[in-house]
Amino acid sequence: MNPKDTGYANRRYAQQPNERDAYRDFDATELYCNRCRQAAPVRKRLLLVLPEGDKFEYVCAYCSTSVGTKVERDTRPNSLII
Ligand SMILES: [Zn+2]
Repeated sequence: MNPKDTGYANRRYAQQPNERDAYRDFDATELYCNRCRQAAPVRKRLLLVLPEGDKFEYVCAYCSTSVGTKVERDTRPNSLII
């Protein structure tokens, strides 16, 4: 496998096993990139772990410009279930 394909810049963000697995099939989503001036495939990068969920940043796969962020709700089993 070509190490470049896994995005060496993201490697330091991929220290959690789950994050690495998720990275293998990163979202096929395309978002508009202002720098590329076209819709571009994006890579998802874990930015922050917040109490309400994990905040991800989407970066352009071509130029690595941030094209958006998203907070994903924590999907851990919730002990508050009645
Ligand atoms: Zn771009």
